[in-house]
Amino acid sequence: MAISGQGKGLLERLAEGVVVGDGGMVMALEKRGYVNGGPWTPEASAEHPEAVKQLHREFLRAGSDVLQTFTHYSSEDKLTRGGRTLSKFTSREINDAACRNAREVADEGGALVAGSITQCPSYWEGKGKAVVQAQIREQLQVFVENKVDFIQAEFFEYVEEMEWAIEEAVKTGLVVSATMAIGEKGDLAKVSPGQCAVRMARAGAKVVGLNCKYDPDTILRTMTAMKEALDAEGLKPYLMTQPNGFHVPGVGRLGYAACPEFPFAMEARVLTRFDVHKYARAAYEMGVRYIGGCCGFEAYHIRAIAEELATERGKWPAASEKHKPWGEDLRLSTADFLRASFFQVSYGAVWLSGRASDSGPGGCEFEPRPVAAMPGRLPRPPAPESRPSLHPPVRHPLPPPPGFLFSVGLADIGHVTYLALEIHTTGPPIRQPSRRKNPKQLEEEDCQVQEMIEA
Ligand SMILES: [Zn+2]
Repeated sequence: MAISGQGKGLLERLAEGVVVGDGGMVMALEKRGYVNGGPWTPEASAEHPEAVKQLHREFLRAGSDVLQTFTHYSSEDKLTRGGRTLSKFTSREINDAACRNAREVADEGGALVAGSITQCPSYWEGKGKAVVQAQIREQLQVFVENKVDFIQAEFFEYVEEMEWAIEEAVKTGLVVSATMAIGEKGDLAKVSPGQCAVRMARAGAKVVGLNCKYDPDTILRTMTAMKEALDAEGLKPYLMTQPNGFHVPGVGRLGYAACPEFPFAMEARVLTRFDVHKYARAAYEMGVRYIGGCCGFEAYHIRAIAEELATERGKWPAASEKHKPWGEDLRLSTADFLRASFFQVSYGAVWLSGRASDSGPGGCEFEPRPVAAMPGRLPRPPAPESRPSLHPPVRHPLPPPPGFLFSVGLADIGHVTYLALEIHTTGPPIRQPSRRKNPKQLEEEDCQVQEMIEA
């Protein structure tokens, strides 16, 4: 694998361009059978290192420039809640193993290792600054011994605790990045996002932002408020976002934990890779330079970030060997109806129609239309003799319509038949029903496609 950027630290990489983060580990490893949902502690780092390394490796292959140690909730006070029933491993054992796992894989692809710390039960139990900092210090000592590249303080819900953590982390001499798990209403003590950002930067974090609990749309709106406050104070930390990979548009301070499907039935809310393209582009446009994901972000979501920003980064992720964006892989499908060059995307209030043609550098015409103009039935594919065939295929970014940040890079995919993509954005908010279509509707739509193929 080509290793670029090796030897460069986080700040150097951020100064040069965009840094792609990794995805969510704790929920992914719960699904794979290595994490106990409920406590969500990371003893798998010591107990099942191969499983943890495999997930690191998938993120690395997908384009992650940073691998975070799998040490979420691994302070001693968290592990011993209820009398050490959760984990047979100590905080030191877990943190030490997690550093080795991340380093081994990071070195395979020139990635950085971030030692990850998070909130401690001691904080909300009211035990005070000295106790909380002692918990964090234990983990930091292990990170320093293992020579992690920087410290990532994440998933703090109170900015006061975050300040204590940053203060302690800065003492290691390592760069500190800091992301809070808050939405537009601010932290659990009702400190506004802007104030949280300013306080994190003043505490010494060189990278400031948000992770977890909310979907990309909410995270980016919250990030906008943070950026405005930082600008107003003349503070210029790098910005970072690692949202969740679930659509949760209407949730409040609890974030995704307030969804009726949380945590074991979230699948119907998962972002598509196309949603992630939109997120990556929007984050980049607003100046975020450290772009990754948290719970629900799988390797293919990370790959979508790396592919969306491939031009800016000057490289494609290794996993793109097996994936061409925008359906281009379908060129090799043996099913006629999937070898498509007709492409439709509905996004919010905009419905884009793409058609391979001889016009334009990429041979694609796109025409935004209001959703109301969406055809009730799928259009027939063009007759075979009228099917355009363009060679070589060229990816071709189109100017987005106003308010539309989806980059469209459709290549000619050979023979024309049909491909329809419906990309569902945020729908009705809170307590919404599952986003899965009801079986009757699904059956009707499938029948329409079937009729069209047979016609
Ligand atoms: Zn998360």
